[in-house]
Amino acid sequence: MTRDHKTHVLILSDICYDSVRQIDPDHPQRQISLGAELLQRALEDSRRRDDNDIDAVALVGKLVADASRPYAASDLADLQEIIRQLAGNLPLLIAADPSQDALAASVLGTSDNPMANPHRLREAGDRIGSLCESPFPYGRFSPADPDASPEVRHLANDLPGLFDTHVHTELAYCASGVTIEGASERMHLFGLAGMCFTEHAGQLYVSADDFWGARFIFEPQCWTTGPRDRMDDYLRRTDVYRSNNVLVGLETEVDRDGRLILRDEDRARADVLLGAIHWLNVDPDGLTEAQINAAFLRTAEQVLAADVDVMAHPLRYFFRSASALAPETGDTLARMLAETDTVAELNFHKNAPLKPFFAACLDRGVKITFGSDAHSLWGMGLFGCYRDFLRRVAGVDDIFDFLWRPRRRR
Ligand SMILES: [Zn+2]
Ligand SMILES: [Zn+2]
Repeated sequence: MTRDHKTHVLILSDICYDSVRQIDPDHPQRQISLGAELLQRALEDSRRRDDNDIDAVALVGKLVADASRPYAASDLADLQEIIRQLAGNLPLLIAADPSQDALAASVLGTSDNPMANPHRLREAGDRIGSLCESPFPYGRFSPADPDASPEVRHLANDLPGLFDTHVHTELAYCASGVTIEGASERMHLFGLAGMCFTEHAGQLYVSADDFWGARFIFEPQCWTTGPRDRMDDYLRRTDVYRSNNVLVGLETEVDRDGRLILRDEDRARADVLLGAIHWLNVDPDGLTEAQINAAFLRTAEQVLAADVDVMAHPLRYFFRSASALAPETGDTLARMLAETDTVAELNFHKNAPLKPFFAACLDRGVKITFGSDAHSLWGMGLFGCYRDFLRRVAGVDDIFDFLWRPRRRR
């Protein structure tokens, strides 16, 4: 993205946060309890889509649901902390509803920033709409341009039939707030047609130490003979939500023997399987970059030979490894996906998908699926940048036919 050197203000209007009440009886359409999460979703969505081309963050209108509540100041301080964490040192502009002016000044202070023209910010906020109400809009606005309309973005999805194919649960060792119940609520709230729970099979079979130390890969008896209470617990808890639109699956990988880490009885119970490469299944110590690329492709070949539906975050290994991805590795992987009729997952969790790889997938007719890989609730179904990315790669707006719709294996 090229910067056009205009000043861009991110506008968050009517967050209406309330950390205590679920509902405001006077305004039942407002998702007041989700205010902090909606703020985080908007900031994360902008972070992925705006390439840091944001110069200030503006809070407009009703910042909390009700400024007269005893916890209103602490709720507003929570919002301020989220902005501090995600927007760093960007100036914070305030154009609060008059009923919240005093609260805003006492918690957030006042500013004489020249971009803080309350009248213009409120006008932009009115045009964008309330973040707390579906379809959960936020906006980007150029205050220097008097005729500019704010660019409005909806956090709810508008693509028909859209699934989030990759969602973790409270059983993940790396979970950071995601829950089975919360994720299934958000599927409806954010306009998804369906979702797949896909806990790491390895994490369900072995201890956190054996997982993070990759012992389940290099000492296969870890997963073949360990207790199965966590797997049973996962399948039992998710089964409550299982339907044609909520699939219960697993994300897994291959061990050093090239065997998919999945017991037969669990394969029979999974609706959908994501194959992943978190570690190579050979020791990478001392290997050259060319050898690492070759080992990656051998691991991928074993994953794809094991009858998985989707390749999760296909090239993420190279974002975490010191070794560079060779350009032909992506092409080869796209060909292998086509030959095995495996879906490529678009995934922005802790990596940035590569355009040439997804272009090669589309050229070969490989279907694409959106996987948030959510470990927290805010990430689930946050797909604005996924849609933009696939449209850019495909060169068309209508991406419906490129997308895979998960269906139960059994
Ligand atoms: Zn993964
Ligand atoms: Zn995952």
